[in-house]
Amino acid sequence: MAVGRFAPSPTGPLHLGNLRTALAAWLFARAEGSAFLVRMEDLDRVQASRDHERAQLRELADLGLDHDGEVVRQSERFDRYEAAIAELTRRGMTYPCYCTRREIREAATAPHADAAPEGAYPGTCRELSAAARAEREASERPPALRLRGPDAVVGVSDELLGDVAALVDDVVLRRNDGVPAYNLAVVVDDAAQGVGQVVRAADLASSSPRQRFLAELLDLPTVRYAHVPLVLGPDGQRLAKRDGAVTLEEQVAAGRSAGEVVAILARSLGLDVPEASVRPADLVARFDPARIARDPWTLPPELLTP
Ligand code: GLU
Ligand code: ZN
Repeated sequence: MAVGRFAPSPTGPLHLGNLRTALAAWLFARAEGSAFLVRMEDLDRVQASRDHERAQLRELADLGLDHDGEVVRQSERFDRYEAAIAELTRRGMTYPCYCTRREIREAATAPHADAAPEGAYPGTCRELSAAARAEREASERPPALRLRGPDAVVGVSDELLGDVAALVDDVVLRRNDGVPAYNLAVVVDDAAQGVGQVVRAADLASSSPRQRFLAELLDLPTVRYAHVPLVLGPDGQRLAKRDGAVTLEEQVAAGRSAGEVVAILARSLGLDVPEASVRPADLVARFDPARIARDPWTLPPELLTP
């Protein structure tokens, strides 16, 4: 029995892709008789809001996806993230990074940069001399804080995707605006909340090696991963607003009940759902992760129009 969770960023209404991931995460947990938690990942204080949070919780409730315990908010847990950062710093495993995005891009594409994957940090600030550091500090641009990473490929096994491997570079632990970084916060929270299984969208699969590495470094229990293949719009691109009725509210306005939306999402996860309308609780016994398609689900156009 591994506690499950859904951890949306409250920056707008949940779209069909998010709702499908939420249903999958809920089914994984409930099929094992496990608790299911909801965590609001509201570290992005520009876009996240309490209004979006309330709306998302309503959407989950309308679909019949219940959760256990209080909803926690990352914006209220900075002390935990800072404690983890302090621990890594005490062990000499962090360093300040003064680079702008542009500098990182340029350094990474310099002729002698080795074959680092796109977006990987080239290590510019890792071994700055005292003089170079003083000079950069004088620029008044506040630094981010990075992990002294292993610069090695770490692999994790994923219940849906198989083996996922990625280079773990010097990941950001605290952004230069003082906000703890997503990768750190997720690892700290999943452990603190006793989460044993992370079910989320496949676009985050490549983050799991970093998160696994951070968890082990912090001596935290590791989690099982299941990354659910993405939902694409009818044009084969990532689902977007322009695709039509992508939110639950829009689906309902288009004449579909929440139960009908659940039925459609459940079928896309490989469940047999002859009913037109269904509640998640009626699906628990029918859920089989082995039947989730390993490829993205392209939404049929008729689903997105009234
Ligand atoms: N907050 C992330 C998102 O909404 C999900 C993070 C996670 O599930 O680990 O994309
Ligand atoms: Zn740097």
